[in-house]
Amino acid sequence: MHRYPFTNSIWRQHDRGTLHPPLDTSESTEVVVIGAGIAGLVCAYELQKRGKQVTLLEALEIGHGTTGHTTAKCSVQHGMIYHKLIRHFNEEIARLYYEFNSEALTYLKSQIDEGFDCDYTTEHSYLYATEPNDELSKELDAYRRLEIDGGEATDEVQNTLPFPITQALVVRDQAQFHPVKYLRELAERFVKLGGKVYERTRATDVSQGPRPIVTTSSGRRVQANQVVITTHYPFNDLRGLYVSRFLVERSYIVACEMTSASLKGMYLSVDEKPRSFRSYEEDGKAYLLIGGEAHTAGQVTDTRSRYDRLESDAQHHFEVKRATYRWSSQDLITLDRIPYVGQMFKREPDIFVATGFLKWGMTNGIGAGILLADRLTGRPNRFSELVSPLRKTVKPTDVTSFISTNLDTAAQFTKGVVDRALERRGVQDLQLDEGGVVQIGNQTKGVYRDLDNHCHIVNLTCTHLGCTVKWNNAERSWDCPCHGSRFDAKGAVLEGPATKPLPYSERDDL
Ligand SMILES: Cc1cc2nc3c(=O)[nH]c(=O)nc-3n(C[C@H](O)[C@H](O)[C@H](O)COP(=O)(O)OP(=O)(O)OC[C@H]3O[C@@H](n4cnc5c(N)ncnc54)[C@H](O)[C@@H]3O)c2cc1C
Repeated sequence: MHRYPFTNSIWRQHDRGTLHPPLDTSESTEVVVIGAGIAGLVCAYELQKRGKQVTLLEALEIGHGTTGHTTAKCSVQHGMIYHKLIRHFNEEIARLYYEFNSEALTYLKSQIDEGFDCDYTTEHSYLYATEPNDELSKELDAYRRLEIDGGEATDEVQNTLPFPITQALVVRDQAQFHPVKYLRELAERFVKLGGKVYERTRATDVSQGPRPIVTTSSGRRVQANQVVITTHYPFNDLRGLYVSRFLVERSYIVACEMTSASLKGMYLSVDEKPRSFRSYEEDGKAYLLIGGEAHTAGQVTDTRSRYDRLESDAQHHFEVKRATYRWSSQDLITLDRIPYVGQMFKREPDIFVATGFLKWGMTNGIGAGILLADRLTGRPNRFSELVSPLRKTVKPTDVTSFISTNLDTAAQFTKGVVDRALERRGVQDLQLDEGGVVQIGNQTKGVYRDLDNHCHIVNLTCTHLGCTVKWNNAERSWDCPCHGSRFDAKGAVLEGPATKPLPYSERDDL
């Protein structure tokens, strides 16, 4: 039988496994940061550097989250955001967003000057269209108004990309890097400064009140003056204040070895089916990374075809070999496209959050880490209001998408029950390396039949808020269509907001 390749991010190919121990005692500290992605590590490192005593808790391993599965373009060119922000808010907000991200990039550049080793290269960042697109001209106008260093670049891109385009825009002197090397540099330097990192340590609860206590899945506790939630999707939103304020989008990347010269620059199309390109060189080999095929998280079972389409596009347009790496990940989009960074709840002054990076977390995440470090050390930060999660600037268009996000979630919640009936099949129909919803006796279960013919059986009810999880055939995972929680074939949590596994059993007699 043809075995569909298992997914693996190019950034995690040299993973050295867990470098830091799990937390096995309870302790007290000044600040607990939960989640060692780009936002959490920048925040923890900055706080420790400024003299705070910080404990960093990571559920899995450093680099296992979205930051280990990104394209790692470090750019302020976030699709066509600037004219949308001007239209939606005003020029001042658009300028602040631009400066928030520019300053993050400047911070990253200063770390490279200090000797951070993360395969950083300076690149121009391009947006292009292959079909007529009015929005690009509006974005060009926004560049002029905000004095962004860039502009029209149609000829430049036409001379580089191997297919016809209609228009292109550039932002000069942006960057790309190796995101996991960057996280490791941050972690190493954080520990040298006296910071503590615990991997394989999942936080399950944060108590309210002064000196909050973080509880972990193994029952350990860490008490701190302040707690920072950088878990991507906040897991501690028990009152549901955030669940309807995000869209969770999953997208796909393949990396193919190039047989021609490496691609210069970073590219994103604004077509109906967007594509993202950059290259990465390692051990004398150049890889083309091509991304796209996004969809709302948890809503697609046949995810293998998404990789196949990307690989086919790469082969059609570029001189490349078959894909060596393929991986996917998801990111959070807020209602007004601006991240949520700051105090998490009105009545909890000691709990902070950083999330909702719009698929642009390299600069937004760094900016968030710096802002929270400023906040917790009493330094003013002129972007606090812009990104405050408690901001009141929801406009009519936001309300529209707010409602539709809510309705989608609610629809999924009830549709899950119907889906079970629609998609249910006999367990004997499941082929090797296939998963699905099946009837076992009088129960409906999720089953994955592995390559050794063992059946891995899980309950289909997401342990977060009770939606019905769906099989994802490329990742071999159970994904929740409501809020993006994911579980492996044995029910273990791959990503939150869920913190508890799906009940699981194994049988080899089915
Ligand atoms: C396919 C794709 C391509 C992208 N490309 C780009 C790009 O080119 N440029 C760009 O700027 N952005 C890009 N992004 C967006 C960017 O990757 C993300 O915004 C960013 O990595 C998010 O960082 P984070 O620190 O919030 O989350 P993560 O990196 O996911 O870190 C969160 C960490 O928290 C841990 N965690 C979760 N729950 C718990 C818990 N309960 N207890 C303890 N730890 C926990 C997780 O294991 C994880 O390690 C892309 C996103 C996707 C999906």
